[in-house]
Amino acid sequence: MPDQNTKKRIAIFGSTGSIGTQALDVIRANPGLFEVEILTAQTNDELLITQALEFGPNAVVIGDDSRYEKLKEALSSTDIKVFAGAKALEEVADFDTYDMMLAGIVGFAGLKPTLKAVEKGKAVGLANKETLVVAGDIVMQKAIEKRVPIIPVDSEHSAIFQCLVGEARNPIEKVILTASGGPFFGKKPNFLVNVKRDHALQHPNWSMGAKISIDSATLMNKGLEMIEAKWLFNLRPDQIEVVIHPQSIIHSMVQFEDGSIKAQMGLPDMKLPIQYAMAFPGRVKNDFPRLNFRKYPALNFEEPDVKTFRNLSLAVEALHKGGNMPCILNAANEIAVWAFLRNRIGFLDMTAMVEKTMQNVAFIEKPSLQEYFESDGEARNFAATLINL
Ligand code: NAD
Ligand code: MG
Repeated sequence: MPDQNTKKRIAIFGSTGSIGTQALDVIRANPGLFEVEILTAQTNDELLITQALEFGPNAVVIGDDSRYEKLKEALSSTDIKVFAGAKALEEVADFDTYDMMLAGIVGFAGLKPTLKAVEKGKAVGLANKETLVVAGDIVMQKAIEKRVPIIPVDSEHSAIFQCLVGEARNPIEKVILTASGGPFFGKKPNFLVNVKRDHALQHPNWSMGAKISIDSATLMNKGLEMIEAKWLFNLRPDQIEVVIHPQSIIHSMVQFEDGSIKAQMGLPDMKLPIQYAMAFPGRVKNDFPRLNFRKYPALNFEEPDVKTFRNLSLAVEALHKGGNMPCILNAANEIAVWAFLRNRIGFLDMTAMVEKTMQNVAFIEKPSLQEYFESDGEARNFAATLINL
């Protein structure tokens, strides 16, 4: 058992979410390997308090500063430092006292703290794919400069990352991202037009936060993942393929220049890629349920229906176009999902909103970080004007 000093100190950004709570499950199961240094949440102060009392971090941050007093009061008998507000997220990301950030915030809000961790030279376990979708060039460039490992947590990218171990000298011919197809696999627009939020939130294989669940139902998630893969593995758009694999057993694949394909498999459980990222380069023994191939007599593969699930085509368009287009796509999509979750727009309206926003916000070929923030704001404002149409 390693002693106190060799424990990896983890800063969990978004600790109350689906990824964050599962990361804490992994830490709870491996107290000799990991300890919690920072926890952050946006609004769920109750859970943040419970987590802080259990794991005793150095610092906690609540994004919504109206909840600061309650948090401070609840933790007053401890020496845990309490902060509030978006700016505080960046400030704690700048602390010296942690080894790895587990980036589990959802959406564009994850970009600034994650970039701060990279600038600080901290390893990042990256669940927050939007960070790379929006500003992948800047984040990866900084990571190279600072020699910071960005280890994917997204299951597809973790699969690819695992397939690449030992292959440093071997170029990738292409990667094949698998997609479950989501809850509406096989459905057509005449069905989708009437879909409501509660149905769209039911994913067949994974239990996840609301935003990514909707993104999985529209296939936007796979589009965001194509862009994420481009940056993580330095790929051209034509090297990134998507295949529908409804069982979610193969988490993704890499094809090398000799035609050999490696796949990473297992039961769908996010704790595995989370644990892999936190423990990399080691593997940690666990008692997660094992895959029994006899229970999966067939693994199926199909072409995605991009005529019906047009969000995937829009993301592919943004992937090819580059510049600030993925940032615009992402911002419009965040507004669209937000509006859909509040029953303000229909399922197919989400696509129309993203498409119109991509057509309306000015394209910038090589944006600065500031320009990414401006494009994000502009795209959000434009998309918001479409909500009541
Ligand atoms: P979630 O909604 O369950 O949790 C999000 C977390 O971020 C919460 O702790 C919340 O408090 C915090 N947060 C929300 N808005 C914030 C803001 N504006 N500022 C600061 N913090 C904020 O989301 P999730 O499903 O855990 O997903 C997190 C990220 O991981 C997403 O980028 C998602 O795409 C990615 N991801 C998730 C899964 C999964 O299985 N859940 C799988 C792959 C990738
Ligand atoms: Mg994924």
